[in-house]
Amino acid sequence: MTAVFETVVVGAGPAGALAAFELARAGRSVALIEKHPLPRDKTCGGGLVWRGRVRLPEGFELPLERECRVARLVPFAGAATVEVTRELPIVSMTMRAELDCALAELARDAGAQLHTPVALQALERGGAGYRLSTSAGEFECRNLVGADGARGVVARLAGFEETLATIPALEAEIECAPGLFERFAGSALFDFGTGAPGYSWVFPKREHLSVGVLAAQRGAKDLRGELERHLARHGLSGSRVRHLSGCVIPIRPRQLCARDGVLLAGDAAGLVDPLTAEGISLALESGRLAGRAIVEADGDPGRAVRHYVRALRAEILPELRWARAFAGLLYRRPALARRVLERNGATACEVLTDIVCGLRSYRGLVRDPRAWLAISGLRLRASEKTTA
Ligand SMILES: Cc1cc2nc3c(=O)[nH]c(=O)nc-3n(C[C@H](O)[C@H](O)[C@H](O)COP(=O)(O)OP(=O)(O)OC[C@H]3O[C@@H](n4cnc5c(N)ncnc54)[C@H](O)[C@@H]3O)c2cc1C
Repeated sequence: MTAVFETVVVGAGPAGALAAFELARAGRSVALIEKHPLPRDKTCGGGLVWRGRVRLPEGFELPLERECRVARLVPFAGAATVEVTRELPIVSMTMRAELDCALAELARDAGAQLHTPVALQALERGGAGYRLSTSAGEFECRNLVGADGARGVVARLAGFEETLATIPALEAEIECAPGLFERFAGSALFDFGTGAPGYSWVFPKREHLSVGVLAAQRGAKDLRGELERHLARHGLSGSRVRHLSGCVIPIRPRQLCARDGVLLAGDAAGLVDPLTAEGISLALESGRLAGRAIVEADGDPGRAVRHYVRALRAEILPELRWARAFAGLLYRRPALARRVLERNGATACEVLTDIVCGLRSYRGLVRDPRAWLAISGLRLRASEKTTA
C-alpha cells in the first residue's frame, strides 16, 4: 500500500527535523523518513554555535554536554593562542545522536509521521507529485524536502545537476587522563595552524573530548597524519580513541536548491559556512525555511519552490557569498592571510567569535569599514602616524 502525504522529508538531521516540525505544527500532512534507526551517530564535532542555538524552536530542550563561554583560537601556525570570552555560550557542546533524535521527536510530537529505519531508494514523478520507493514500501507526495546530507540521494534522483563542492574532515572521540581533560574542559579550541589549509579543533564534552581536523581544499591527503600532529601539538597523543570517523562537508551552495516540487535543505543544498565549516545553524535555518515555504504556498509545489528560493536569497545566500570571500582569503591566500593575522590576529579572532555568535555577520563586516580596517591593521598604522 502507498502512504500518501502532502510532503515527505528525507533525512532526520537538523534540516529535515526542522522542516517536518514547521510543517507539522502548521497542521500539514508530513512524513519524515530516516534510513537509520534513531538515535543514530553522525560524524560531527557537535559544536552548536550561538547563532545556531538561537534558531532552535522555542521551548526545545537542548541535550547539552557542556557550554563554552571561552574560545581559544590559534590564528596561524606558530602563533600564540588568542583567548576570547563572551557572556553567552559561544559553543554549546552536544552529541549529534542525542540532538538529532530530540529534534526528530519534536517534529513527531508536533504531528509529523516519523518513519525509521526507512531509506529512500528510487524516485519517480507520478500521482500528484512524486512516488518514492523506500526500504519500507512506497510513499507519494506533492512536495519533497531533500534533507539527506552531503552524500544524500534526493538531488541526484530528482535530476539536479551535481554542483556540490565538498571538503574532507575527520573526527575522533577521545578519552584522556582527568588532569589533562581539565585543561580542555573550559573552552573550545580552534587551531588554524594546521600543515595544510584548514583547521583542527578540540571540543570538550561531558567526560571526553571531540577532536578533529578538516582540510579546506578538496582531495587533501593524510588527514589521519594531520590529526595525529594536532593531538601531538596539544599534548593529547596517546589518548584512547573511542570512535574515529570521517565525512565530507559541503563548502558551496548548489547553483539550484529547489525545483519541480523538490526543496533541498542543509548539507544536501550545500548550506555550510565555508570558513568555519559549521553547518548545524544553516541546516536548522534552511529546514525551517523549506517547511515554512510549503506552508505559505498552501502545499502548492510550484509556489513552495518560489517561496523557498526567495527566502534563501534573502536570508542565507548573500551571507554565504561573503563567507566564501573570507574563506578564500584565509585558505587560498595563506601568505597574505598570515601577514594580516600576524598584525591583527587577536582582532580577527574577536570578530570571528562575534560572527559565530550572530552578533555580526560577514556581510555586515564588509559594510563596516572600522571593523575591516581594524582587522587589516590599517587603522593601527593611521593612528601611529597621527601620534608621530
Ligand atoms: C567531521 C565533521 C565535523 C563537523 N563539526 C561540526 C560542528 O561542530 N558544528 C557544526 O555546526 N557543524 C559541524 N559539521 C557539519 C554538520 O555536521 C552538518 O553541516 C550538519 O549535520 C548538516 O545537517 P543536515 O540535517 O543537513 O544533514 P545530516 O545531519 O547529514 O542529516 C542527513 C540525514 O539524512 C539521512 N539520509 C541520508 N540518505 C538517506 C536516504 N536515502 N533515505 C533516508 N534518509 C537518508 C542520514 O542518515 C542523516 O540522518 C561537521 C561535519 C563533519 C563532517
